[in-house]
Amino acid sequence: MTTRTTYRAVVATAPGQLQLIERQIPTPTPGQVRIRVEACGVCHSDSATVENLTGAISYPRVPGHEVVGRIEALGAGVDGWQIGQRVGVGFLGGEDGSCPSCRQGDGINCHNPVITGMNVDGGYAEIMLAEARGLVRIPEELEAAEAAPLLCAGLTTFNALRNSNARAGDVVAIHGLGGLGHLGVQFARKMGFYTVAIARGADKAEQALALGAHRYIDATEENVTDVLRSLGGAKVVLGTAPTGQGMAQTVPGLTPRGQLIVVAVPGDPITLNATDLIFGARSVVGALTGSVPDNEQTLAFASLQNIRPLIETFSLDQAQEAYDRMMRADVRLRAVLVMSPDKA
Ligand SMILES: [Zn+2]
Ligand SMILES: [Zn+2]
Repeated sequence: MTTRTTYRAVVATAPGQLQLIERQIPTPTPGQVRIRVEACGVCHSDSATVENLTGAISYPRVPGHEVVGRIEALGAGVDGWQIGQRVGVGFLGGEDGSCPSCRQGDGINCHNPVITGMNVDGGYAEIMLAEARGLVRIPEELEAAEAAPLLCAGLTTFNALRNSNARAGDVVAIHGLGGLGHLGVQFARKMGFYTVAIARGADKAEQALALGAHRYIDATEENVTDVLRSLGGAKVVLGTAPTGQGMAQTVPGLTPRGQLIVVAVPGDPITLNATDLIFGARSVVGALTGSVPDNEQTLAFASLQNIRPLIETFSLDQAQEAYDRMMRADVRLRAVLVMSPDKA
């Protein structure tokens, strides 16, 4: 058997364009590991890279920040990790440890983070280099393709819910039932909340209840505010659907001191009536991903409570199709690229 010196990667080359290329296998620099990638989720945030939404992406760039694989080489100075170990990499691939946020212990809001698939190459590839400080341990019982979406979509929803004001038994509504929302519903149920799923269309009711929702609100047929109020109000609404108008409709349905937690980026503004905020001291806050320990706790909780993403898998050479379908919200419910081991 000859050992290959190259690997296949998918790079964004121009807005909306992905291309499969062959590259030389790199050597990890100090502090890095080289990962043989097994699976990588396709997240809506990948569009920031593929479409160059910020204007800061330098092409070609490998997208992907829901990466699961095994370590196959260690850079100098890497302690605590072994070759062959299962690891994951999420959106935050390592904080600098020295900026004002990091010095206050708030590494999630680091001013100079390594962002996987944005300012370094990500996981749409057979091989990836990652900072050891950003590595997440993957429990053996989680399959790679199922663990991958938990590293961003799972972490985002789990961390937002567990850091919220809601306590066991409170009404918590998950707005949206896509890649983030279908995980949010499962987490909310297993955390002990009265779980409400809000989406559009009668056809989503069955799935919402199967995922664990106690109540489904069809926003095309029912008044979201009225239904939430009839339930006593929601202590938390987790906004996962990219509609500012839809999120805004949930705010008057919050309890006093209730929170709308925004984790999706809508194209339209979230337009609010200030009286809904003032009377009842309601708030609207954002939540961004989480730390490495948060991510390991997400995986542990998912494993403990048997929470899994619903996925559609694609091979690496189908990355463009997977990405395009994700952008059209035409995936049930999370697209995952699975690298074929026979090509390794
Ligand atoms: Zn993501
Ligand atoms: Zn920092």
